[in-house]
Amino acid sequence: MSYRFDTLAIHAGQPDHDGTGAVTTPIYQTSTYRQIEPGVTTGFGYSRTDHPTRRALEDNLAALEGAKYGLAFASGMAAIHGALSILRAGDHVVSTRDLYGGAWRIFTKFFAKFGVQFTFVDPTDLKAIECAITPETRLLWIESPSNPLLKITDIAACAAIARRAGILLAVDNTFATPVLQRPIALGADIVIHSTTKYLNGHSDCIGGAIITNDETLYNELKFFQNAVGAVPGPQDCFLILRGIKTVGLRVQKHCDNAEEIVAWLRRQPRVARVYFPDGDAVARRQMVRPGAIVSFELDAGLEATRSFAQRLELWTLAESLGSVRSLFCHPPTMTHASVDAETRRKVGIGDGLIRLSVGLEDVRDLVEDLERALAGIEAHAGAACS
Ligand code: PLP
Repeated sequence: MSYRFDTLAIHAGQPDHDGTGAVTTPIYQTSTYRQIEPGVTTGFGYSRTDHPTRRALEDNLAALEGAKYGLAFASGMAAIHGALSILRAGDHVVSTRDLYGGAWRIFTKFFAKFGVQFTFVDPTDLKAIECAITPETRLLWIESPSNPLLKITDIAACAAIARRAGILLAVDNTFATPVLQRPIALGADIVIHSTTKYLNGHSDCIGGAIITNDETLYNELKFFQNAVGAVPGPQDCFLILRGIKTVGLRVQKHCDNAEEIVAWLRRQPRVARVYFPDGDAVARRQMVRPGAIVSFELDAGLEATRSFAQRLELWTLAESLGSVRSLFCHPPTMTHASVDAETRRKVGIGDGLIRLSVGLEDVRDLVEDLERALAGIEAHAGAACS
């Protein structure tokens, strides 16, 4: 039977595992499993290779993305490392300029050491993406919406480009979540998640995932997962599974709050620019809603931006996103500090940029907090002039 998203979120991958009738997948807190005879297991042998709580999570994630296979990792970065493990020295990757700083770092400072080459292009320029492909290109890597400028890349068009070139398409779907966007249905070969974010949703664990429909790819990645061992323990898998049960509800409310905050930001004279993909035609086609990450630039320098940040009380200055609790960050000095200043300038990550991860508090409290902080820097600027 094919169930709908919210039903899958609660049930997929979670049968009665151990015959006890437990309605929640238990935390199988064991490192190893008794063998029936040497080399013959009951299905689980050693928890790095597989364990029931992780298997439930992996099957659940696959179902949510409309795919056959899921692989859970210890972090989003471990999942990105895993996906790129299919590359060999001499291979080339086309990716986009506006990219999570950690992805940029592992590409240019880790995989480059092993002879993998990268070209970064404008995420909205399909011609540039296609033209960057060389005979050595094996992978097209995109993030949509992107971090931190919320640029939208046309996933179906990229899938067509990848197919024509005989290469794979990987999509980091962390910002959108499968609630809002399903890249496999749009033609992607690999979907990546930092499950730390909306899927877990409560800022209480770190995790990552790779999802695919391709059996050969799955087997290669499964080998990597066991061989390298950057896997999540049973407790973390449990927390992510628990978060997923409410992800549909949460993401809708995150989006409601974000839309109100965007409307308010757009009315503020001191806000020079708001980055939110609600007017983007491609986003409207490939996403259910534009998401709940909002970036904006203050019409002020670094000092005033810092002062604004310090004045916020309810919003928490912290790395990460997708939590019930509203978080904000200053990408140039936080999430994208590992990207050199020249690249940041080219991408458009200015010193006045603030990224909001809109949480589930009462939106009136969130707006009032932003209002207070903005009034504070205006008063400060006024005092300096008089
Ligand atoms: N992908 C995106 C889009 C992210 O924003 C992040 C982290 O912020 C990651 C991947 C890495 O995930 P993790 O922090 O779980 O390693």
